[in-house]
Amino acid sequence: MATALQHYSSLASLRQALADKKVSATELAQESLRAIDLHKVLNAFVHTDAELTLAQASQADALLAAGKAGPLTGIPIGHKDVFVTQGWRSTAGSNMLKNYVSPFDATVVSRLLEAGTVSMGKLNCDEFAMGSGNEHSAFGPALNPWDHTAVPGGSSGASAAAVAARLVMASTGTDTGGSVRQPAALCGVSGIKPTYGSVSRYGMIAYGSSLDQAGPIAASAADLVEMLDAMSGFDPRDSTSAEFCNGAINAPGRIRADFNQASQQFTLSAAQPLKGLRIGVPREYFGDGLSEDVANAIEAALAEFEKLGAQRVDISLPRTRLSIPAYYVIAPAEASSNLSRYDGVRYGHRSENYTDLEDMTGKSRAEGFGPEVQRRILVGTYVLSHGYYDAYYLQAQRLRRMIADDFRTALTTQCDVIMGPVTPTVAKQIGVNNDNPTADWLADIYTLSLNLAGLPGMSIPCGFGTGASGAALPIGLQIIGNYFEEGRLLAVAHQYQCVTDWHQHIAGQTS
Ligand code: GLN
Repeated sequence: MATALQHYSSLASLRQALADKKVSATELAQESLRAIDLHKVLNAFVHTDAELTLAQASQADALLAAGKAGPLTGIPIGHKDVFVTQGWRSTAGSNMLKNYVSPFDATVVSRLLEAGTVSMGKLNCDEFAMGSGNEHSAFGPALNPWDHTAVPGGSSGASAAAVAARLVMASTGTDTGGSVRQPAALCGVSGIKPTYGSVSRYGMIAYGSSLDQAGPIAASAADLVEMLDAMSGFDPRDSTSAEFCNGAINAPGRIRADFNQASQQFTLSAAQPLKGLRIGVPREYFGDGLSEDVANAIEAALAEFEKLGAQRVDISLPRTRLSIPAYYVIAPAEASSNLSRYDGVRYGHRSENYTDLEDMTGKSRAEGFGPEVQRRILVGTYVLSHGYYDAYYLQAQRLRRMIADDFRTALTTQCDVIMGPVTPTVAKQIGVNNDNPTADWLADIYTLSLNLAGLPGMSIPCGFGTGASGAALPIGLQIIGNYFEEGRLLAVAHQYQCVTDWHQHIAGQTS
């Protein structure tokens, strides 16, 4: 079933249609809401509210009519349900927050609203962003629009699925260990996790605070520029927000520095920008466990970059394997602390049957949290407990530093960017790892280390492989850069998207 948004190849073309009055923001919003309804089977949106959406759309139409529209005025988007929103419920995919309505908007949400976007509602995700397939949601799994028996990835699974099916043009996601890049890869769309500190975490329901970072998902790198531009920037309400990036003030518009509005081209694209670009290809990303489909697609993408003038450099990130144990100690440790606030008193579900305070807290948490979240809390409290802290948590912190050092060596002495796969395979079938929860953890091998180091990384579509059901499923190329070099990553990705059309394939277009 085609959606109205499938007729627009980019945010720029949609902006043009709005400016030319071929369509209004209200019409777009109505069509988007209709498409969400028609594609209910995807289970992408967990909460919509036509009245709130149409109020935003009519404001956008007023700005358009007054000639005061900004680059994103009237663009239909969706928010991962870990961003708190005034009006719409904010659940983090959990029964714990089933009926929670925030009294304020997250900074990311308010900045995108100020930029003129129109929100279609809240997108399904893994509970408290813990997961890799959107299967751990209290609202049930979201489906991959390319194959309804496959996962869309996670935890921002529905954020990617909704863009892939063009229910919205762009969406917000969060990435603690890969949750923007991995679903973008598995749904055939583009997504970026910016440098830690680039985008405010204020109002983002916390998972692992030293790892969490918000990022946009959209069809292409050019569209991501527009979204990230509006989302990023210093926020005094987030104590880890970066005020300066490489000497420049971290303000909305920073990403656009690399982008020429008039020509819709990144300025880096002038005169063979990729000529001489040194692409580091980590040996460790091509070992055991990488499927042939993915390996071939990545090789083909690297060959394309070489054709564009880039140069391939063999590099080593020797601690890659250790990112799994380091992350799965640090992230649960932080989660166990962050989630202690859900006790049925300060926040969250309260059990109806209890005898005393302790019984109430225990029952409220047992009823409110799903199994994956409980598993993480158990691991987290264990590694932080007296007697195990030194053996696990402290060692993981040391590994974290060493992993960051490996990237620093590569990116300062050997290469300008790093490229490789995002995932070892195409999207798995829903439910395959139900009896083996740590199997999903191992598949995060290529994404976790960036969050441990705080570096920016993105995923762009680069081909298709074959899923277990026989369906053709998308593959993503990961591009990693040095701190605050999001602009460069986006420019490099844009060059690739100028000469390839993987990002233009739309899920469900032919059916
Ligand atoms: N799959 C990883 C986890 O479950 C990453 C999730 C994320 O980035 N939010 O922790």
